[in-house]
Order: sequence, then structure tokens, then C-alpha cells
Amino acid sequence: MKDQFDYDAIIVGAGTSGLSAGAVLNKADSQYIILDKKEEIGLPVRSTGAVSLEWVRRIGMPEDPSIVASEIRNMSFRTTSGRRIDLNFDHPVGLVYDFTKYEKYLSERFSGKLNIKMKTRVLEATATGVKTDEETMTARNVILASGPQSNLGSKLSKTEALVAYEETRSLDARDDFQMILWFSDLAPGGYFWDFADSKDTRKIGVCYYPVNGKAPSKVLEEFTKKFPEVSGDVVHTMAHQIPLSAPSEKVSREGMYLTGDMINAVLNTTAGGLQGAFWSGKEAGNSVLSGGVERYQKIWDSDIRPWLLKHHELHGKIHKNGEKSVGKYIRLAKLMPKSLQIKVFGGL
Ligand SMILES: Cc1cc2nc3c(=O)[nH]c(=O)nc-3n(C[C@H](O)[C@H](O)[C@H](O)COP(=O)(O)OP(=O)(O)OC[C@H]3O[C@@H](n4cnc5c(N)ncnc54)[C@H](O)[C@@H]3O)c2cc1C
Repeated sequence: MKDQFDYDAIIVGAGTSGLSAGAVLNKADSQYIILDKKEEIGLPVRSTGAVSLEWVRRIGMPEDPSIVASEIRNMSFRTTSGRRIDLNFDHPVGLVYDFTKYEKYLSERFSGKLNIKMKTRVLEATATGVKTDEETMTARNVILASGPQSNLGSKLSKTEALVAYEETRSLDARDDFQMILWFSDLAPGGYFWDFADSKDTRKIGVCYYPVNGKAPSKVLEEFTKKFPEVSGDVVHTMAHQIPLSAPSEKVSREGMYLTGDMINAVLNTTAGGLQGAFWSGKEAGNSVLSGGVERYQKIWDSDIRPWLLKHHELHGKIHKNGEKSVGKYIRLAKLMPKSLQIKVFGGL
């Protein structure tokens, strides 16, 4: 008898969460397809690509040297008024992916070559299929992994999503820190950053709730004037939204699985969403194979959401009074064990 469905699963979105779900299904020889409206995997660049190495290992993200732009051993958290805490490790604690290589790796080598159809926009989706700009496809399962700004997700308000803007600038690699974050009243809810990239470029960026109506390039320019050490010719720019509010309670909608940025799987303290996207995508894929949306919701409730909630609560405290609150937390760092090689500076 002919199967009534075209696929076991349709995944909408070939970003981290869709590719992670696809990798699970590919390994299990499932009949699935990933659809994405963009032209090429990993482009345009969507993320700085910084992740914690501990979590990369815990959730099984790739760490192939060919996709790693730089390693993070030395970090500094600062306020723009001069408070500062430095953490130095004798081993890498984080990675910065080369984002395009990383997503291409997920799509081609991580679990074999995935079945992906690019340049295909999904107009409508239900639990049993999708309508694209070309055709209608049916499936037993539909996974929505279409990111923060998709027509398939909800519209986020000014206090539910950060605007994020990054300039890759011609700047020599620093030999002291591979990651510096500055918390500032100029960037409400977020921070400025300086990340290692290549030996002659660094990534300088900002993310914040756009409550003051200022354009991100202007905000970054203002910061650069204050800290000329980060000024340099612009090689590349990137801008997008990052959902930054409590992780969603429900991870399915009308029988469809929702993953990644669509369910705010973003660590609110760092605005890092790659790991939440990878983990939720992986568990959505596993649940398609066995257990369905009920299993997915259970794993979300027991493992993924509590991890995100801790960061959400801390973010609320850190950003309550802007720079002042961050300063308070920097002071608390003085109480951390000496083995962590933490140095605290400024007005203590
Ligand atoms: C400037 C910036 C810097 C960041 N830096 C970091 C960082 O250093 N570390 C970190 O962990 N996180 C970072 N993030 C966050 C991280 O990039 C995201 O959380 C993560 O990419 C979300 O993955 P996703 O798979 O949920 O969505 P996405 O990566 O957005 O993928 C969604 C995909 O769905 C496709 N799509 C959408 N709608 C449709 C449709 N209707 N039909 C077909 N396809 C569709 C899109 O084309 C896209 O490819 C950053 C974000 C920004 C904006």
C-alpha cells in the first residue's frame, strides 16, 4: 500500500536547530527533508559563533579543528565605567566557530550529507505538511526550526528580543584576551563584545533591547569612540535579532515541534543561542523517532528549560539596574576560588 505521507518529517529551517534535528534523522535512515528559503548553508553569517566547550561536549556539538576559528582561554567582563573581572585558564574553555564552515560541516559531514532543499520558502505549516512557494508536501511530523524572525513564528516586542550587530574589523589579534564583554547602560539588556577571529581581524559587536530607538551601528560607533582600541576598518557586517526572554513553556504548536530561537532557547546571560538550538533540535529529532511531541516536551521540561531558566533569572538580576548591577556581580567574583585565576579590578 502506498504510504499516505511524502516524508516521515519535514524540517523548516537549515540553521543550527534544523541541521541538528536533520543529523539525528539522517543517522536513523529516516525519510526527511530540510527546507530553507536562503541560497546557501551558513550564509549570510548569522552568529559570532562563540560557544562553551563544556557544553559543546555535553550535548555533542562538533569540535572538528577545521571549523574552529579560535579558542577562548582568557576572558574579561567589564563595565564601561572601569570595573573589570578577568578569567584566565590554562586550557580552552570556549570555541569560536567559523560560522559558515560550522553550518556546512553540520549539513555535510557531521552525520553524512543531509537531504536539504534550499531556495524554498515555506508559506504555511501544519502538523501534517507544508505549503511552499512551489508545492505542497506532506509528512507525519513537522519541525519548525525557522529562527527568530520567521513568518512562521510569533512577532517579538522590543523587550523580548535584542537587536544584535557585529562588525568584523581589521585589528591585530590580542595576546591578552580572546573574549571581552562590556556591560553598559548604552546597551540595555545586552553588552558590547570583542571576540578573537583571525590573526588580523576581530569581531566587535553589540546587542541590546532597542528601547531607546537608537540604530545599532550608531550605538557601536559611540562605544568605539569611548574605546578606540577596538576601532579598525570594517571588513564585514552582520545584523539580526536574538530572542531574549524566558524560555517558552510549550515546545509544540498544533502538533508541530518548535526548536531553537522559536522557543527562546537562548542563554539570556550571554545571548548565546547556538547550544540551545542544537540541543532542542537534537531532541526534536530523537522524539520524531520515538516518543513524539510528548517526549520532546518532557525533555524540555526536565533538562533544557531548567538550564535556560537559570540564565534567565540571573540575567534579570544582572540587568536590573544596568551597569550598577553588573558591578555588584563583579564584586561577588572576589569570593570565587583562587584556582580559577580570577582577577577583579576597579572600585572595590
Ligand atoms: C549578531 C549575532 C551574534 C550571535 N552570536 C552568538 C554566539 O556567539 N554564540 C551563540 O551561541 N549564539 C549567538 N547568536 C545567536 C544564534 O546565532 C542563534 O540563537 C541561532 O543561530 C539560532 O538557531 P536557529 O536554528 O534556531 O535559527 P536560525 O539560525 O535563524 O535558522 C533559521 C533558518 O530558517 C530559515 N527560515 C526562516 N523562515 C523560513 C521559511 N518560512 N521558509 C524556509 N526557511 C525559513 C532561515 O533562512 C534560517 O536559515 C548570535 C546572534 C546574532 C544575531
